[in-house]
Amino acid sequence: MTPLIIAVDGPAAAGKGTLARRLAGHFGLPYLDTGLLYRAVGRRVLDGGGDPRDAGVAEAAARGLRAEDLDRSDLRGPPADDAASNVAAHPGVRRALVEFQRGFAAAHGAVLDGRDIGTVIFPDATAKLYVTASPEARARRRWLEVRARDPRADLAEITAEMAARDARDAGRGAAPMKPAFDALELDTTEMDADTAFEVAIAMVAEKLATP
Ligand code: C5P
Repeated sequence: MTPLIIAVDGPAAAGKGTLARRLAGHFGLPYLDTGLLYRAVGRRVLDGGGDPRDAGVAEAAARGLRAEDLDRSDLRGPPADDAASNVAAHPGVRRALVEFQRGFAAAHGAVLDGRDIGTVIFPDATAKLYVTASPEARARRRWLEVRARDPRADLAEITAEMAARDARDAGRGAAPMKPAFDALELDTTEMDADTAFEVAIAMVAEKLATP
């Protein structure tokens, strides 16, 4: 039997992570936040004093990635966001991470969130959701998150950083961020997390019911 795979893609702060984790709980599947892989690679490059835009350095960091790198406490925040998005543009980095992502879901299926799960990693996923929200709503959500850790967080700065990251993720040649042709789009601008979860369950259930 083919394992159940749910791909959750979309831009930054659209609500993918929370939604994907809850879907995993609901369907009894393992969950993988694939952004953490790119964040950990970016961190390794920064630790070594390298430039995340350097393809050779970034690819070496991706090939040397270990499981414990994903448990670091400094994988979130603007420097990690920026480093992740820069290393993610290198085809060699992406190639180095494919096998891990596919292997993760091989035995029991999985919910994976990212940018290219439905287009590249699992083009045959059982259900593909592309989660979006307006740039204003997404920037505000990220600002509230960052502000909880750092009261100096600036909304305008976060809005600009997020726009630059989304443009880089969507504009790169290797596995650009985009909805798969058969993805179901979920716009969460006007939804709270519970409503988005209910709508997503209904979308996945419909896919499961369609042979
Ligand atoms: O999802 P998250 O915001 O944590 O991802 C951080 C960065 O990692 C993204 O901006 C993107 O550049 C990269 N990424 C990717 N492909 C994925 C997941 C993340 O390119 N599947």
